[in-house]
Amino acid sequence: MSDDRRNVRPETLVRRMPLAEGVSRPVVTPIQPSVVYASPSIDTLHAQYEGRETGYTYAREGHPNATVLARKIDAMEGAEGGLVTGSGMAAVTAALMGIMGAGDHVIGGNQLYGRSLRLMHQDLARFGIATSVADPTDAEAVRAAIRPETRMILLEVVSNPTLRVADMEGIAAVAREAGVLLAVDNTFTTPRAWRPFEHGADIVIHSVTKLLAGHSDVTLGYVVAKDAGLQRAIYDFAVTTGLTPSPYECWLAERGLYTFPLRYDRAEANAAALADVLAGHPKVKRVLYPGRDDHPDRARAKALLGARTGNMVSFEIDGNEAAANRMVAAAPQLPFAPTLGDVGTTLSHPASSSHRALTPDARADLGHESTGSFRVSVGIEEIDLLISDFEQGLAAV
Ligand SMILES: *Cc1c(COP(=O)(O)O)cnc(C)c1O
Repeated sequence: MSDDRRNVRPETLVRRMPLAEGVSRPVVTPIQPSVVYASPSIDTLHAQYEGRETGYTYAREGHPNATVLARKIDAMEGAEGGLVTGSGMAAVTAALMGIMGAGDHVIGGNQLYGRSLRLMHQDLARFGIATSVADPTDAEAVRAAIRPETRMILLEVVSNPTLRVADMEGIAAVAREAGVLLAVDNTFTTPRAWRPFEHGADIVIHSVTKLLAGHSDVTLGYVVAKDAGLQRAIYDFAVTTGLTPSPYECWLAERGLYTFPLRYDRAEANAAALADVLAGHPKVKRVLYPGRDDHPDRARAKALLGARTGNMVSFEIDGNEAAANRMVAAAPQLPFAPTLGDVGTTLSHPASSSHRALTPDARADLGHESTGSFRVSVGIEEIDLLISDFEQGLAAV
């Protein structure tokens, strides 16, 4: 060994040094990637586990960036003690599996997010939890699906891709009467449009990946129960099964939230304008937007959401899949990508993506039988630019 190498004492390299501090402080939330947290003594660690002292112990159980993000979403939802998870599906899983057990029954909306339905039908079934689906625009259909062993109803307020609006007030009353928990996946609506806890929900779920984070660069979820005991059960399940989010992703999502209201309002205004332009276009057969008078649930949308009719628009071109394919190819500026809530507009074709597993009959039952149907997640672009992009695509139909 050379003298130089002998002079480097390894212990000085591995020993962590405290960050230099001064009288000033950072303006931006620091990212804290530490997996473990050192406690000053065994007594203190006992006190932490017993809740007499606060402090993190191990990142799977919680870390500062997740806490900051959770408290911000709590504030938006009017909730307390929510949990951030590693994805929206992790949040759905924690809500369902943290609370229910063998012998229980859950009712899902018939247009729930595809993976939520799959979790219920395929995975919960293996653990002895039965699932029924019901049409959430019809509170009586939901009531009819209730059994003595029904524990929970899981719904989305605005469905994908037909943007039907659930009868939330009616179903909340049904759930209350039956003593069944009402869980709402509020991803599409967001607390800017509707806050489930103010309308009888017991559990709120988000795919933070979508509008809340808003930049298609993080995968995260959020779940909160009104009841502290239920929240504890959800938390324990999530920590045991490792549904933990990464500090860096929490930090990115927190950054996204600062502009969420601005992004939401702009995207919604764009969606309303685009829906009207599409409805008047000769190559478009039908437009579905809850803010338009020709939407099947217009009255309910008005009562439930007021002017907050969201950034999602669905439309059907006058043509089949081949024509839809030409439209996608003719407008490469509009990413053909099966997600939603990005700052930029994205286009999806449910028949070939989110709903490809369904038969044409099953799609017809849900009201979107055409292979010429698109779903648009409208972004925050200049509206003139957006309209000209769609006109360019539609010219190829
Ligand atoms: C995307 C989505 C999910 C799943 O969220 P991930 O973050 O992709 O796991 C759940 N529900 C709805 C309504 C969604 O749009």
